Amino acid sequence: MIHTTLPTNHPANTAYFMPLPHKELPLITKEWTLFLDRDGVINKDVVADYIKSWNEFQFLPGVLEAITQFAPLFKRIFIVTNQAGVGKGLMKLEDLNEIHSNMMQEINVHNGRIDQIYFCTATDNNDINRKPNPGMALQAKKDFPEIDLSKSIMVGNMPNDMRFGRKFGAFTVYLPTRPEENPDPSTVDAQYKDLLAFATDISSKTQIQ
Ligand SMILES: [Mg+2]
Repeated sequence: MIHTTLPTNHPANTAYFMPLPHKELPLITKEWTLFLDRDGVINKDVVADYIKSWNEFQFLPGVLEAITQFAPLFKRIFIVTNQAGVGKGLMKLEDLNEIHSNMMQEINVHNGRIDQIYFCTATDNNDINRKPNPGMALQAKKDFPEIDLSKSIMVGNMPNDMRFGRKFGAFTVYLPTRPEENPDPSTVDAQYKDLLAFATDISSKTQIQ
């Protein structure tokens, strides 16, 4: 393997070959908050495009079951998603709203629960609400003042999700559904192959109060 001959700080090494950390999950209580990215975590991601209509939306395997497992564990469960396709004019806000309303209906039918969906349609990386900037978490704290952001878990599949979680002190969980995008290992606390693997682990470690 050629990479073993490269110095460990070689750019070709840093992302692909550095194993990501896998800390023990925190012992959570019912006051903890769960933040979930959407594309590549809940539904199948598309590279270099957007999910523009409900027809294009596909739940990833095990996700509805995972969200059902989360429901009794977390007081609040939020989705935080960048949707710049709206800002770019590639899709309409009504289409995004329709996707979310259908998604929520499916989740509810399976006895899951999402307390709020936060989305950012901005294309400007400096926009406070566009991940990795922390605006959507700050908005959740404003809407639900009882939440403690230092008692939260952020699950995502992109480097920006991990950086976003770091900004407000969340425990960050990385799902490698887009393996060509490598997060900085210092921004990752744990990784799981998919949302159900994370849900199963956290359920097994949590006593429902
Ligand atoms: Mg994503």
